[in-house]
Amino acid sequence: MFNSCAIKARGDPGLPYCRECGAKIIYDRNTRSYVCPGCGLIYTPQDLIIETRKDVEMGVAEEKKKRKYAEYLEWWASSKK
Ligand SMILES: [Zn+2]
Repeated sequence: MFNSCAIKARGDPGLPYCRECGAKIIYDRNTRSYVCPGCGLIYTPQDLIIETRKDVEMGVAEEKKKRKYAEYLEWWASSKK
């Protein structure tokens, strides 16, 4: 049960943030795209899907790297006696 906090903190299904300026982007019904009110950048829904996927993939890769490092540390600590 102690994992629920971490999942809650990461799982934000709200609108994504602008990758350029960090402002929360809004949906523009007229153009059917997402517009950043901060810098005026326009995202298509397709763009957003790709961005989200990239983030997830990067997160997984980062997690793997951390794990590998932890395993290495463990091996190093156990071999050094
Ligand atoms: Zn922006």
